[in-house]
Amino acid sequence: MVNYAYLDHNATTTPRPETVRAMTSVLGRVGNPSSVHGPGREARKLMEQARTNVAALVNASAADVIFTSGGTEANNLALTGCGRQRRLVSAVEHPSVLKGGGETLSVDGNGIVDLDRLDQLLLADNDPALVSVMLANNETGVIEPIKDVVAIAHRHGALVHCDAIQAAGKIPVDIVTLGVDMMSLSAHKIGGPSGVGALIVPGMGDGTGAKLNGQLFGGGQERGFRVGTENLPGIAGFGAAAAAALASLQDFARLASLRDAIEKGIKDIEPQATVIGEDVIRLPNTVCLSMPGTDSQTQVMAFDLAGVGVSAGSACSSGKAKASGVLKAMGVCDDIAGSAVRVSLGWCSTESDVDTFLEAWRELYFRRSAREISSPAA
Ligand code: PMP
Repeated sequence: MVNYAYLDHNATTTPRPETVRAMTSVLGRVGNPSSVHGPGREARKLMEQARTNVAALVNASAADVIFTSGGTEANNLALTGCGRQRRLVSAVEHPSVLKGGGETLSVDGNGIVDLDRLDQLLLADNDPALVSVMLANNETGVIEPIKDVVAIAHRHGALVHCDAIQAAGKIPVDIVTLGVDMMSLSAHKIGGPSGVGALIVPGMGDGTGAKLNGQLFGGGQERGFRVGTENLPGIAGFGAAAAAALASLQDFARLASLRDAIEKGIKDIEPQATVIGEDVIRLPNTVCLSMPGTDSQTQVMAFDLAGVGVSAGSACSSGKAKASGVLKAMGVCDDIAGSAVRVSLGWCSTESDVDTFLEAWRELYFRRSAREISSPAA
């Protein structure tokens, strides 16, 4: 689409040229990474290079990376594979964590997990637990205090899983410094293809990490943790995207100025406009904002007609008219939650995308105001 301002990069981002090149080259060749002959060994080499690149993005060891069919599977594998019956999950997790069940950790008005509550819950019951808290939220971009979560959880002997799917490639992520026991990544959020992801378990390679059981039966791929012939084109694309994302991490910081321009532009038009989580540290690319009086779905459609792609809540739950569970968990009132849209920038976003968005927002806002004036409340 010519001149379309795609601002829904948290749903999925534009594949990087490096990704397309790597995948195209792999699609044209034969070789199963498990075969011992030359083409098989070549395939394995490509896969291991990708593993090294994915590990490097979060300062992990290549031996600790398990490739999966995406972020959803990585989250499922962490939760079900670690064998801990007791789970504590933050209320703002992605459905691929939340739907696994467990005790919910409440969040404050900014979406930050309640650390005191975590401590109390772990103190009250010493069943070995798994705590799952994401690094950055997909809808608001709010960054969670993972190091603090880890300190509390480890003090009680609990394991920590961290969904870093929206954070990786956008901010520096260091699995060693964070200290988590498991971390999920997804290729299509960093400029790779969809349908491939990874679960990283520090220490898995040398047997010192969290114990994990694979959830599928079949061959012995991925050391049995995720069996089935590997998606080599996807993995190669993931590896190329990870290397490109790491090399251009500084560029991502530039997006903060575009994000700030969006927020300022909106506030210049309507000083009362709400930016969710604006007082806490967020990803440089995500803005969740509300224009009360016009529901989210109507806005998404109006923006689309104006040549701007944004989303209502997360893409995974769009299509449903109900307000976002994330915003509800944050205690955002129905009026604001029901009219919130997420604008998310990507590695290829430009100032002109921001201008197009602001122009569309202005038009929508004044149309709505004109409607209010012509049909005063009864
Ligand atoms: N976790 C988060 C935070 C996400 O944003 C997403 C993607 N919407 C997922 C998990 C699922 O990843 P995938 O699309 O690769 O299954």
